[in-house]
Amino acid sequence: MNNIDTFDHDHLWHPYTSTINPLPTYKVASAYGVEITLEDGTKLIDGMSSWWAAVHGYNHPVLNNAAKEQIDRMSHIMFGGLTHQPAIDLGKLLLSILPPNMNNIFYADSGSVAVEVAMKMAMQASIAKYGNTRKTNFVTIRSGYHGDTWNAMSVCDPVTGMHSMFGPALNVRYFAPAPSCRFHDRWDENCTAELEQIITLHHDEIAGLILEPIVQGAGGMRFYHPNYLVKARQLCDKYDIYLIFDEIATGFGRTGRLFAWQHANVMPDIICIGKALTGGYMTMSAVATSRDVADTISHGEAGVMMHGPTFMGNPLACAVALASVNLLLSYDWQGKVAHIESIMKHLMPEARRYSNVADVRILGAIGVIEMNEPVNIAAFQAQCVEKGIWVRPFGRLVYIMPPFIIGDNDLETLITRLLEIIRPS
Ligand code: PMP
Repeated sequence: MNNIDTFDHDHLWHPYTSTINPLPTYKVASAYGVEITLEDGTKLIDGMSSWWAAVHGYNHPVLNNAAKEQIDRMSHIMFGGLTHQPAIDLGKLLLSILPPNMNNIFYADSGSVAVEVAMKMAMQASIAKYGNTRKTNFVTIRSGYHGDTWNAMSVCDPVTGMHSMFGPALNVRYFAPAPSCRFHDRWDENCTAELEQIITLHHDEIAGLILEPIVQGAGGMRFYHPNYLVKARQLCDKYDIYLIFDEIATGFGRTGRLFAWQHANVMPDIICIGKALTGGYMTMSAVATSRDVADTISHGEAGVMMHGPTFMGNPLACAVALASVNLLLSYDWQGKVAHIESIMKHLMPEARRYSNVADVRILGAIGVIEMNEPVNIAAFQAQCVEKGIWVRPFGRLVYIMPPFIIGDNDLETLITRLLEIIRPS
């Protein structure tokens, strides 16, 4: 049997693809643990966790049970005027693991929507304090990625992100350079000089600073120094700017800490989580904020947070998220992530010797190989499928972030086969 579906090819739009000349898509029959099974029976070791999300692997009995139990009670009920136990239990659990200054949670649909909500929170709080003619813009750092909706796009990297296409229609933000000081480098104060300059000059127009703490994901897979966050916090405090951490990719253990803010012990005013929140089962995100921000919004002229999606607080997603976070906290996930990191650090640096490789970097359960030239995705993925692994590169970046449950043999096979594909012939 062939894995390519002609209806899919002719009618379904996949992420970032053309309809005229779409990238191939492989038809999946099922997935279990770290194994993806294609229609023709080909088995692939998953190196992607479905874009950071499936930290427990696929088809996990605990998560399946949570979904089944909840579905027999109710899949969904509106959150306007009604509430339910899964939302309450999840909220309590999240507040116990998020930065201790967090007090209020807004459930949203996806990562991008969480970013919209977080930016609206900062904006509303700022408007409540300063009126709507001042402090309504944002500053961010280059090489960031925050999602594909309108405001999220406006704070993505202006060159590699969506600005090149949507530029004139996007709000103009302030962009500091991507942090030059890498995670393991010696800290250099100059790293934040331009951020400081922008904020010093324009703070009276800026409501919020948004960034992905420690790991910049889809904007370049860069790992930067924790002191950057310390300085960002100081600047935000000095100039009354809300600090927003987008932990949609970094949250739930991926970087070696439960959340990336913990590498610097710097607390934001607003935090976005998503992706692994439901263990990759369904779309759900959450935005948490401090009592100060929530009260400021509530004392403002509008008096309310102006957002309320139809599927807000979806009980099915809350029940699975609750099971997923509890499952993560129930075992030594940190030891497991450290173990994955040590295997990656043992095997992946070999690629530094390849003439086509620019850099190899590893942090937590994230392993990145930066190539000199952009990768031909279709050809690369065909080789991956032939070798029984699933890796999806973008641009010059080939990276793996497997489910935490991956066994040593599977991880070693994943990396070895990946290196075989990359190695110049
Ligand atoms: N922020 C970050 C840091 C992300 O990595 C992503 C998704 N790659 C998003 C936001 C957007 O999330 P979603 O795709 O769920 O809208």
